[in-house]
Amino acid sequence: MKNPYAKAYFIQSAPTLAKCPPDEGIEIAFAGRSNAGKSSALNTLTQQKNLARTSKTPGRTQLINFFRVDDELKLVDLPGYGFAKVPLELKKKWQHHLAHYLEARQALVGLILLMDSRHPLTEYDEQMLNMAEAAGLRIHILLTKADKLKPSVATRTLQAVQNALEAGQLEATVQLFSATKRQGIEGLIEILNLWREEA
Ligand code: GDP
Repeated sequence: MKNPYAKAYFIQSAPTLAKCPPDEGIEIAFAGRSNAGKSSALNTLTQQKNLARTSKTPGRTQLINFFRVDDELKLVDLPGYGFAKVPLELKKKWQHHLAHYLEARQALVGLILLMDSRHPLTEYDEQMLNMAEAAGLRIHILLTKADKLKPSVATRTLQAVQNALEAGQLEATVQLFSATKRQGIEGLIEILNLWREEA
């Protein structure tokens, strides 16, 4: 399968919506709790060993990081949420900037939310899903590190997450993903291609 995302390159970091690049073209954002496997997924998608390392360098972990795919499309690495040992006030400030970006960004068409398949749908994930839904975004969930689960358990987890979303009347697609095994990359590329076509 052709991978148009392999050419992505880092362009800019921004602490707030006001500091983001011009709000034009199409953006697709990636979010997840720290350690969910977001960097690994972005590196696998873009076929680059260190692309997402940019977002992990000191000082950048709480910034919105932009990667350009082509003239029209950018991928956006959102700050990892949940684990950082920082004062509550600072966390609230970050959350405010994140919510602001999700709500107000015209170029943003969808959110890829990454969750560790061994413990999906945490409270933080629910918050993120609610924010994305309120912002009218398309939502696709990657259940990461699927290689760590037995195939039967992985299938059950996928089903359970789909059921939970349905029960909560939340419209989102879900798939299993493993950066290590390169599992699910085609599915992810299809979603990105689709969102881009629809935008
Ligand atoms: P981030 O904090 O969300 O960017 O997460 P990372 O991509 O840095 O991954 C966190 C940890 O999970 C690292 O130790 C990775 O090696 C590991 N990891 C990430 N993806 C996978 C995967 O698909 N399979 C396995 N087994 N480990 C993974």
